[in-house]
Amino acid sequence: MCRHVGYLGPARTVGDVLTAGPTSLLTQSYAPREMRGGGTINADGFGAAWWSNGTASSYRSAMPMWGDSAVTDTLTHIRSVAVMGAVRSATVGMPVERSACAPFVEGRWAFSHNGVVRGWPQSVSALAEKVPVETLLRLAAPTDSAVLWAILQQRLLDRDPADALAGLMADVDAAAPDSRVNLLLGDGESLWATTLYHSLSVRYDEDSVVLASEPLDELPGWQQVPDRCLVSARPGSVDITTF
Ligand code: GLN
Repeated sequence: MCRHVGYLGPARTVGDVLTAGPTSLLTQSYAPREMRGGGTINADGFGAAWWSNGTASSYRSAMPMWGDSAVTDTLTHIRSVAVMGAVRSATVGMPVERSACAPFVEGRWAFSHNGVVRGWPQSVSALAEKVPVETLLRLAAPTDSAVLWAILQQRLLDRDPADALAGLMADVDAAAPDSRVNLLLGDGESLWATTLYHSLSVRYDEDSVVLASEPLDELPGWQQVPDRCLVSARPGSVDITTF
Protein backbone atom coordinates (compact mmCIF):
# COMPACT_ATOMS: atom_id res chain seq x y z
CA MET A 1 0.00 0.00 0.00
CA CYS A 2 1.84 2.94 -1.30
CA ARG A 3 5.62 3.11 -1.52
CA HIS A 4 7.95 6.00 -0.78
CA VAL A 5 11.60 6.95 -1.06
CA GLY A 6 13.83 9.65 0.39
CA TYR A 7 17.31 10.59 -0.84
CA LEU A 8 20.00 12.86 0.57
CA GLY A 9 23.45 13.17 -1.01
CA PRO A 10 25.26 14.54 -4.03
CA ALA A 11 22.89 16.42 -6.34
CA ARG A 12 20.85 14.17 -8.63
CA THR A 13 17.88 14.82 -10.82
CA VAL A 14 14.47 14.12 -9.34
CA GLY A 15 13.74 11.85 -12.30
CA ASP A 16 16.87 9.82 -11.57
CA VAL A 17 15.91 9.27 -7.93
CA LEU A 18 12.47 8.07 -9.03
CA THR A 19 13.61 5.77 -11.85
CA ALA A 20 17.20 4.57 -11.24
CA GLY A 21 17.65 0.92 -10.34
CA PRO A 22 15.83 -2.23 -11.47
CA THR A 23 13.38 -1.96 -8.57
CA SER A 24 13.09 1.84 -8.52
CA LEU A 25 10.02 3.64 -7.22
CA LEU A 26 8.79 3.67 -10.83
CA THR A 27 9.01 -0.14 -10.93
CA GLN A 28 7.38 -0.32 -7.52
CA SER A 29 4.41 1.60 -8.93
CA TYR A 30 3.45 -1.44 -11.08
CA ALA A 31 5.50 -4.33 -9.65
CA PRO A 32 6.06 -3.83 -5.92
CA ARG A 33 7.48 -6.88 -4.16
CA GLU A 34 6.85 -6.21 -0.51
CA MET A 35 3.24 -5.02 -0.43
CA ARG A 36 1.51 -6.07 2.75
CA GLY A 37 -2.15 -5.82 3.60
CA GLY A 38 -3.87 -6.47 0.29
CA GLY A 39 -2.67 -3.79 -2.12
CA THR A 40 -1.28 -4.97 -5.45
CA ILE A 41 -0.10 -1.94 -7.46
CA ASN A 42 0.38 1.76 -6.80
CA ALA A 43 -1.53 3.31 -9.66
CA ASP A 44 -3.49 6.07 -7.90
CA GLY A 45 -1.05 8.87 -8.55
CA PHE A 46 2.39 9.83 -7.37
CA GLY A 47 4.45 12.76 -6.26
CA ALA A 48 7.99 14.03 -5.86
CA ALA A 49 9.47 16.74 -3.66
CA TRP A 50 12.87 18.41 -3.86
CA TRP A 51 14.59 21.24 -2.04
CA SER A 52 16.25 24.42 -3.16
CA ASN A 53 17.40 27.20 -0.83
CA GLY A 54 15.89 25.38 2.11
CA THR A 55 12.38 25.22 0.70
CA ALA A 56 10.56 22.13 -0.53
CA SER A 57 8.74 22.13 -3.88
CA SER A 58 6.68 19.34 -5.34
CA TYR A 59 5.22 17.84 -8.47
CA ARG A 60 2.19 15.60 -7.99
CA SER A 61 -0.11 13.85 -10.40
CA ALA A 62 -3.20 11.66 -10.21
CA MET A 63 -1.82 9.55 -13.05
CA PRO A 64 0.12 6.36 -12.44
CA MET A 65 3.83 7.18 -12.36
CA TRP A 66 4.41 5.08 -15.45
CA GLY A 67 1.90 7.14 -17.46
CA ASP A 68 3.12 10.67 -16.73
CA SER A 69 5.84 11.84 -19.11
CA ALA A 70 6.94 14.52 -16.61
CA VAL A 71 8.92 11.78 -14.85
CA THR A 72 11.24 11.30 -17.78
CA ASP A 73 11.24 14.80 -19.23
CA THR A 74 10.50 17.64 -16.78
CA LEU A 75 11.75 15.96 -13.60
CA THR A 76 15.01 14.95 -15.27
CA HIS A 77 15.88 18.67 -15.44
CA ILE A 78 15.47 19.39 -11.73
CA ARG A 79 18.52 18.63 -9.60
CA SER A 80 18.71 18.59 -5.84
CA VAL A 81 20.71 17.21 -2.95
CA ALA A 82 17.44 16.14 -1.31
CA VAL A 83 14.55 14.35 -3.01
CA MET A 84 11.45 12.50 -1.83
CA GLY A 85 9.07 10.43 -3.94
CA ALA A 86 5.83 8.53 -3.34
CA VAL A 87 3.48 6.32 -5.36
CA ARG A 88 -0.07 5.83 -4.12
CA SER A 89 -2.53 2.99 -3.81
CA ALA A 90 -5.55 4.84 -2.47
CA THR A 91 -7.21 3.37 0.59
CA VAL A 92 -10.75 2.29 -0.32
CA GLY A 93 -13.11 5.19 0.37
CA MET A 94 -10.51 7.87 -0.07
CA PRO A 95 -10.45 10.10 -3.17
CA VAL A 96 -8.21 9.43 -6.13
CA GLU A 97 -7.00 12.90 -6.98
CA ARG A 98 -3.79 14.87 -7.25
CA SER A 99 -4.30 16.67 -3.94
CA ALA A 100 -4.33 13.33 -2.08
CA CYS A 101 -0.91 12.32 -3.41
CA ALA A 102 2.18 12.59 -1.23
CA PRO A 103 4.59 14.17 -0.68
CA PHE A 104 2.75 17.01 1.05
CA VAL A 105 5.04 20.03 1.31
CA GLU A 106 4.97 23.09 3.54
CA GLY A 107 7.95 25.44 3.87
CA ARG A 108 11.02 23.28 4.47
CA TRP A 109 9.02 20.14 5.21
CA ALA A 110 7.92 17.28 2.97
CA PHE A 111 5.84 14.37 4.26
CA SER A 112 4.56 11.01 3.05
CA HIS A 113 2.44 8.29 4.65
CA ASN A 114 2.31 4.65 3.64
CA GLY A 115 -0.58 2.87 5.32
CA VAL A 116 -4.01 3.42 6.78
CA VAL A 117 -5.43 4.84 10.01
CA ARG A 118 -8.05 2.44 11.34
CA GLY A 119 -11.43 3.92 12.23
CA TRP A 120 -10.54 7.18 10.53
CA PRO A 121 -11.65 9.90 11.03
CA GLN A 122 -13.40 9.32 14.37
CA SER A 123 -10.46 7.42 15.86
CA VAL A 124 -8.06 10.33 15.54
CA SER A 125 -10.47 13.25 15.91
CA ALA A 126 -9.28 13.91 19.48
CA LEU A 127 -5.69 14.26 18.21
CA ALA A 128 -6.83 16.69 15.51
CA GLU A 129 -8.66 18.87 18.03
CA LYS A 130 -5.41 20.59 18.91
CA VAL A 131 -4.85 21.59 15.31
CA PRO A 132 -5.87 25.21 14.63
CA VAL A 133 -8.77 25.77 12.24
CA GLU A 134 -6.45 27.67 9.87
CA THR A 135 -4.35 24.53 9.46
CA LEU A 136 -7.42 22.32 9.01
CA LEU A 137 -8.75 24.70 6.36
CA ARG A 138 -5.57 24.04 4.42
CA LEU A 139 -5.97 20.28 4.75
CA ALA A 140 -4.42 18.84 1.62
CA ALA A 141 -7.21 16.30 1.01
CA PRO A 142 -9.95 14.42 2.89
CA THR A 143 -7.62 11.50 3.69
CA ASP A 144 -6.05 9.93 6.76
CA SER A 145 -2.59 10.90 5.49
CA ALA A 146 -3.54 14.58 5.23
CA VAL A 147 -4.94 14.57 8.77
CA LEU A 148 -1.76 12.95 10.11
CA TRP A 149 0.22 15.63 8.29
CA ALA A 150 -1.89 18.43 9.82
CA ILE A 151 -1.39 17.00 13.31
CA LEU A 152 2.34 16.54 12.75
CA GLN A 153 2.81 20.05 11.39
CA GLN A 154 1.32 21.44 14.57
CA ARG A 155 3.69 19.36 16.69
CA LEU A 156 6.74 20.35 14.62
CA LEU A 157 6.26 23.93 15.77
CA ASP A 158 7.54 23.19 19.26
CA ARG A 159 9.24 19.77 19.12
CA ASP A 160 12.18 18.34 17.30
CA PRO A 161 11.14 16.08 14.41
CA ALA A 162 12.11 12.77 16.05
CA ASP A 163 10.16 13.63 19.21
CA ALA A 164 7.18 14.86 17.22
CA LEU A 165 7.09 11.65 15.17
CA ALA A 166 7.58 9.32 18.14
CA GLY A 167 4.79 11.09 20.03
CA LEU A 168 2.47 10.97 17.03
CA MET A 169 3.12 7.27 16.53
CA ALA A 170 2.36 6.49 20.15
CA ASP A 171 -0.83 8.56 20.03
CA VAL A 172 -2.09 7.05 16.77
CA ASP A 173 -1.24 3.55 17.95
CA ALA A 174 -3.29 4.12 21.11
CA ALA A 175 -6.22 5.92 19.45
CA ALA A 176 -6.44 3.72 16.34
CA PRO A 177 -5.05 0.24 17.07
CA ASP A 178 -4.00 -1.91 14.08
CA SER A 179 -3.22 1.17 12.04
CA ARG A 180 -0.46 0.98 9.44
CA VAL A 181 1.68 4.03 9.70
CA ASN A 182 4.97 4.23 7.83
CA LEU A 183 5.77 7.91 7.74
CA LEU A 184 8.55 9.73 5.91
CA LEU A 185 9.50 13.30 6.80
CA GLY A 186 12.28 15.46 5.37
CA ASP A 187 13.57 19.00 5.73
CA GLY A 188 16.17 18.90 2.96
CA GLU A 189 19.03 18.06 5.37
CA SER A 190 17.70 15.08 7.32
CA LEU A 191 15.11 12.37 6.83
CA TRP A 192 12.99 10.75 9.50
CA ALA A 193 10.87 7.65 9.03
CA THR A 194 8.67 5.34 11.05
CA THR A 195 7.69 1.72 10.57
CA LEU A 196 4.36 0.40 11.75
CA TYR A 197 3.37 -2.67 9.73
CA HIS A 198 4.85 -1.80 6.31
CA SER A 199 8.32 -2.48 4.96
CA LEU A 200 11.22 -0.01 4.94
CA SER A 201 14.88 -0.34 3.95
CA VAL A 202 17.85 1.97 4.34
CA ARG A 203 21.23 2.24 2.66
CA TYR A 204 23.86 4.83 3.40
CA ASP A 205 27.50 5.76 3.09
CA GLU A 206 29.56 8.80 4.03
CA ASP A 207 28.02 10.90 1.26
CA SER A 208 24.45 9.78 0.93
CA VAL A 209 21.48 8.01 2.44
CA VAL A 210 18.41 6.41 0.88
CA LEU A 211 15.29 5.33 2.73
CA ALA A 212 12.86 3.30 0.64
CA SER A 213 9.81 1.13 1.19
CA GLU A 214 11.63 -1.49 -0.88
CA PRO A 215 15.31 -1.65 -1.94
CA LEU A 216 15.83 0.11 -5.27
CA ASP A 217 18.32 -2.47 -6.58
CA GLU A 218 19.98 -5.78 -5.76
CA LEU A 219 23.29 -4.23 -4.73
CA PRO A 220 24.62 -4.90 -1.21
CA GLY A 221 24.20 -2.46 1.65
CA TRP A 222 20.45 -2.41 2.12
CA GLN A 223 19.38 -2.87 5.69
CA GLN A 224 15.78 -3.72 6.53
CA VAL A 225 14.28 -1.57 9.27
CA PRO A 226 12.35 -3.64 11.84
CA ASP A 227 8.73 -2.91 12.70
CA ARG A 228 7.93 -0.20 15.26
CA CYS A 229 11.06 1.79 14.66
CA LEU A 230 11.93 5.44 14.22
CA VAL A 231 14.76 6.25 11.81
CA SER A 232 16.72 9.51 11.83
CA ALA A 233 19.03 9.73 8.84
CA ARG A 234 21.63 12.01 7.29
CA PRO A 235 24.46 11.17 4.90
CA GLY A 236 26.93 9.08 6.91
CA SER A 237 24.64 8.60 9.90
CA VAL A 238 21.53 6.52 10.47
CA ASP A 239 20.00 6.11 13.89
CA ILE A 240 17.28 3.47 14.40
CA THR A 241 15.37 3.30 17.70
CA THR A 242 12.19 1.54 18.73
CA PHE A 243 9.14 3.50 19.77
N1 GLN B 1 -4.34 5.92 3.29
C1 GLN B 1 -3.48 6.71 2.44
C2 GLN B 1 -4.20 7.17 1.19
O1 GLN B 1 -5.21 6.66 0.83
C3 GLN B 1 -2.23 5.96 2.08
C4 GLN B 1 -2.52 4.81 1.17
C5 GLN B 1 -1.51 3.73 1.18
O2 GLN B 1 -0.51 3.72 1.88
N2 GLN B 1 -1.83 2.74 0.43
O3 GLN B 1 -3.70 8.05 0.56
